[in-house]
Amino acid sequence: MVAYETNGERRNRQLGADCRHLAVSAPPVSGSPFGWRSGDESSGRRTKGPRRLKPPRRTKAAPLAKPKAGRPLDEPFPDFPYHPDPQATGSVESSEAHCVCCGHARGLIYTGPVYCARDDLDDALCPWCIAGGRAAARFDAEFTDIGSGVPDDVPSEVTNELSTRTPGFSGWQQEHWLYHCGDAAAFLGRAGRQELEPHPEALEALRAAQAEVDAPLEEVTEYLAALDKDDQPTAYLFRCRRCSTHLAYSDFT
Ligand SMILES: [Zn+2]
Ligand SMILES: [Zn+2]
Repeated sequence: MVAYETNGERRNRQLGADCRHLAVSAPPVSGSPFGWRSGDESSGRRTKGPRRLKPPRRTKAAPLAKPKAGRPLDEPFPDFPYHPDPQATGSVESSEAHCVCCGHARGLIYTGPVYCARDDLDDALCPWCIAGGRAAARFDAEFTDIGSGVPDDVPSEVTNELSTRTPGFSGWQQEHWLYHCGDAAAFLGRAGRQELEPHPEALEALRAAQAEVDAPLEEVTEYLAALDKDDQPTAYLFRCRRCSTHLAYSDFT
């Protein structure tokens, strides 16, 4: 059980004690009711997920774009099929920062995880550069760690779009996506018990995940009741793009 850590501490731990992430992505593990309360009292702050550094594949790092004066031409907010409203989920926030990929200050900046050999891309990329794949290509970056556990019927085009052209999201633990009907599901945001109530199938999936770890029934019930959108444990809600089934997993520190 890990107490509250800052981003830096968490990243250092990830890179030091947990070096296996450099080579292999461990399969995602949903939160278990066992011991979830023994973590730190919540500080009310959500840390960004640990970012696994990728081994650099390029000898020469791409330069950061110089800030450009003036506003770019008005472009509509990009369409992200797998993360339809990243402003609502908190992965894109208002900011006057200049994007280090296009150089423009567009008023919005991506605040989610960046998996990259360099560490100066936090809160530094605009959603337009993510959508077009420019940011991923320029910096050899990914925004979601796909890892293992992708169903066989999900084509690589889908996981490519997910990792390189879709805003990721920040969780208490290493984040992962959910899949259904041979496709990646759309991420709807963090959810607590109240937000899950209209989606019994998602609640059932969470209950089933806890049952799999042989948690006693009352602990499972207590755990599900404690799910909190802004605190931990938290659920991550998705919707299948094909059949509209809601899916969820949960975690905590
Ligand atoms: Zn940009
Ligand atoms: Zn489906």
